[in-house]
Amino acid sequence: NQKPRIVILGAGYGGILTTVHLQKLLQSDEAEIILINKHDYHYQTTLLHEVAAGTGDENRICIPIKEVIDTQRIRFIKDTVLGVQKEERQVILSHSGTITYDYLVVALGFQPATFGIPGILEHALTIRSMNSARKIRNKIESLFADFARVKDVKESLTLIVGGAGFTGIEFVGELVERVSELCKKHEVDRQRVRLLNVEGGPGILGAFDPSLAAYAKESLQRMGVEFRLSTRIKSVDAQGAILATDQGEERISPATVIWTGGVQGNSVVCGTAFDAPRGRIPVEKDLRIKGYENVFVIGDCSAVMDPQTERPFPPTAQLAVMQSTTCARNLTSLIRGERSLEAFHPLMKGSVASIGAHDGAGVILGLKTRGKLAVLAKAIVDNRYLYILGGPKLLFGRGKFTMYCMQ
Ligand code: FAD
Ligand code: NAD
Repeated sequence: NQKPRIVILGAGYGGILTTVHLQKLLQSDEAEIILINKHDYHYQTTLLHEVAAGTGDENRICIPIKEVIDTQRIRFIKDTVLGVQKEERQVILSHSGTITYDYLVVALGFQPATFGIPGILEHALTIRSMNSARKIRNKIESLFADFARVKDVKESLTLIVGGAGFTGIEFVGELVERVSELCKKHEVDRQRVRLLNVEGGPGILGAFDPSLAAYAKESLQRMGVEFRLSTRIKSVDAQGAILATDQGEERISPATVIWTGGVQGNSVVCGTAFDAPRGRIPVEKDLRIKGYENVFVIGDCSAVMDPQTERPFPPTAQLAVMQSTTCARNLTSLIRGERSLEAFHPLMKGSVASIGAHDGAGVILGLKTRGKLAVLAKAIVDNRYLYILGGPKLLFGRGKFTMYCMQ
């Protein structure tokens, strides 16, 4: 009797945790488990904006996959998924040919949503992976090095961050701190550097508590961020961008654009192998796709309805982490021939937006928080994740503890 094969695509929050849970829940003779990921490391996507701005240490947020999985139990394949053939029950890989599955977990994360805006794909930088974050950091560093040689004081260095959702705000908060450092390092007058955050909506952090959004905006303005609200990025090109408001258009160039205007599920599976009407694959309460009882989708590729709002929950790591538990338990039930599966009922604990390294704003368990307490809350969330993933060893090796000694 051959063991059933579970194939997990992606080792981000959803995929790696599903793997770690399964290696605890299932005995080795119950199933063969294969994890497939582009890289041999897991990265904390929630901290990529720090790497992109150049304020965060990439070595701290990259965790070798073999450090957290039991390689006696799990077969890890480092490869890029090119597609899924659902009728044949196989995954197509870039180097290793095809892999068949009995059960599939799709956890391939997000890609930037560009809404068809001309030039974003070709000319804007995006925070979507460790490599793309490194690329942004290096580009910004080289822009400053080049600008230091420009003697005409009328010329300025302009960075445009497109979108003031959580990613845009957290990134711009890190970047504005980094800009000060880079100005000092390259002896550039800070007055000659513009950091613009352009947002199509009337305010930043759209669905967030308005008083906290106002706090974040004022803090960032004090630090030197210029906001353009009710202003859309209309197009991007090699020189800069065209911004549009109800009053008209404005060209900003030269400028470098970092696009943080939204995300959608990875198109390797979303809208290709599986229907994804709004960029993510709708799943049933047990996290499987209707009609595909052996396929689970979790994380940013999935759309889970929130019964309260009757809209899908926003794609967050918090959601992916909770989904991984339900997904692993349901897979275990299926492998053991149990018919009834658990329904996914997320208990959202709130959200915190960082505003640079030393400030933040958020709602935790219904309570509003800002400043150092928000920074502490975020550190606790990050540390809790490390503990779930790799126990005390990972927590003490990579956790954030300096915040606990804050004045
Ligand atoms: P990911 O964690 O993105 O992982 C996807 C994995 O799939 C990666 O390992 C990737 O390498 C791999 N992969 C992708 N394509 C392929 C392929 N073709 N072949 C093989 N492997 C592939 N959420 C919060 O709850 N709190 C936060 O504070 C927060 N901060 C954020 C900050 C930033 C800058 C960003 C961008 C997002 C943030 N989010 C936050 C959202 C959160 O990061 C995502 O919702 C979460 O990462 C989704 O998890 P996932 O497992 O679906 O995907
Ligand atoms: P988002 O969709 O939340 O925000 C994108 C923003 O870009 C919106 O405010 C939108 O109005 C704006 N925008 C869209 N098109 C534009 C245009 N043409 N010009 C100007 N502005 C434009 O996307 P995100 O910020 O990348 O977040 C993605 C997901 O990740 C969300 O679910 C978010 O909650 C989550 N996230 C959470 C945290 C956290 O909890 N701290 C941090 C980052 C991301």
